[in-house]
Amino acid sequence: MKADPFAQLALLRLQGIDTALDRNRHTQANLPERAEVARLRKVAVEAHNRVVRATTELTDLRRALRKAEDGVASVRARADRDRALLASGNVTSPKQLADLEHEVASLGRRQSDLEDAELEVMEAVEQAESELALAEEADSAAAADLARAEAAEQEALADLGAEQQRLTEERAGSTEGIPADLLSAYQRIRDHGNAIAVGLLRYGRCESCQMELSRVDIAAARAAAVDEVLRCPECQAIMVRSEESGL
Ligand SMILES: [Zn+2]
Repeated sequence: MKADPFAQLALLRLQGIDTALDRNRHTQANLPERAEVARLRKVAVEAHNRVVRATTELTDLRRALRKAEDGVASVRARADRDRALLASGNVTSPKQLADLEHEVASLGRRQSDLEDAELEVMEAVEQAESELALAEEADSAAAADLARAEAAEQEALADLGAEQQRLTEERAGSTEGIPADLLSAYQRIRDHGNAIAVGLLRYGRCESCQMELSRVDIAAARAAAVDEVLRCPECQAIMVRSEESGL
């Protein structure tokens, strides 16, 4: 294939733009900000679940506390009633009096047991309240972290998108002056997986695959006409000659 040396240099510039576009795509696909958002999203879900658990726990314990308070109140009311009856003087039978006194004493013990249990539930409620406060704090912090990370991801994507657009526009303008056959040869090499489809022949070395050319290949390159399109014998990339080629 033959192509004007200027067209070959234009192809080299096109490769520069395509390399930048490849890098841009790779960066977009492997954005560390995206991984960070995914990580923080999990943290936020965990933090939210912790709040839900703590809320449920506290609701249950508050219900248990009301039940314990009701239990203490009803025992106390019954003991008060018994004591009032004793003080009223209406009960005169020694047997009934003894029974009432016995019941007051037993209610007293019962009340004391229930109050101990109530105290335990109160402590559990306090613990659950502070756990809920901590969980809500962690939840807010996780939500704020996530929002920051999402903003950073959007910013990174916007920057990369702007760069991609600029490069795409630059690319559209830089294919002019490149003959169609040279351009399609370049595209074929890239399609075959060689992202660097054209490189300089620099000091006897293919810039695409970095292989050093044999003396025979260098002699052939030296003998080739200036508009001959050279291909690397190793990677098939197009080699563009310049003053640095070492020919
Ligand atoms: Zn090569």
